[in-house]
Amino acid sequence: MGANCKHCRGGFFDGRFGQDVECVNGVLIDIDEAHEGGPDGTIYPVAPCHPMWARQMADPDAETWKNDSIERLGAWRSAAKAPDTGEGE
Ligand SMILES: [Zn+2]
Repeated sequence: MGANCKHCRGGFFDGRFGQDVECVNGVLIDIDEAHEGGPDGTIYPVAPCHPMWARQMADPDAETWKNDSIERLGAWRSAAKAPDTGEGE
């Protein structure tokens, strides 16, 4: 199961954000946590490929932008379960 992101150096960051943290659909998360799902409502930081990355740098608490990490992880999880139909993009 690859969570490779071509924007984020293959999804890994040389441990820059934590040992097992990688980019999962634009979200920075420990890959095991991504599979299992964290506690409900947990917000994760967005990854460098996320359109709000620059905003996050300026406003880490996401008070002036929307952190959609929950939606993104949900979409990633359902895509991971479904057979790969080669979704575009
Ligand atoms: Zn990425």
